[in-house]
Amino acid sequence: MPVSNELLEYQSEDAKLRKIEQEIASSEERKKYMQARKFMEAARDKLEAQDKHALELKALRDQLAARVDETTKAIAEYAELDEMLEGGADLAFYKKNAQSLLDRLRSIKGELNRLITEINAAAEEYKKFKEQTIAMQKQYKDYSAKFKELRDSHAEEVKAINEKMEKIGKKIDPKILEVYTTKRKEKIFPVVVPLNGEFCVCGRDFPLAQRGSLAGGNMVECENCRRLVYKV
Ligand SMILES: [Zn+2]
Repeated sequence: MPVSNELLEYQSEDAKLRKIEQEIASSEERKKYMQARKFMEAARDKLEAQDKHALELKALRDQLAARVDETTKAIAEYAELDEMLEGGADLAFYKKNAQSLLDRLRSIKGELNRLITEINAAAEEYKKFKEQTIAMQKQYKDYSAKFKELRDSHAEEVKAINEKMEKIGKKIDPKILEVYTTKRKEKIFPVVVPLNGEFCVCGRDFPLAQRGSLAGGNMVECENCRRLVYKV
């Protein structure tokens, strides 16, 4: 695969394109747009998780309500304790039962307090999430417009470079162009680099035996960075 002036010219046009791409990619407009987009994408899952949590809390509440009910009924039986004792009931037995009811009430009270804390935390989280969602919706709307504006502002320049590259590209061996394009897509840039002494730009050295294959302007792929290296 020989290097050619056309290929180098193609690459120098491509460098302009890349500069614009990088400028757009690192822009505040894109960052804010992507941030809002990611938030919105994750929002549905988060909302589902919050709904699920709310259902769990509700189930816990129902469970506690049932236990309060049951305990209240058990306590109601004590309304007739005097009569029962007069009828010869065993006081010790009722004392023991009363203690166990009291323990049950204490435990319900503790669980109720924990549930209230959890509900408050969930409500607070939901409130924050709602505020965030409103803010992010606005950011998404604003910055998708700004991001588009930024891209549009480069559109003509990008079009001109693309046209020029297309023209130069026609003069390059399609196989070589394909290799170049693939590497470019893999974010290797510059793709074609001159050997610097006995080193590639990435620092990997080209031993003498390998340097021989660079004769006649032949490009050799660097084993380290996979760039196409040629000898000037
Ligand atoms: Zn290299």
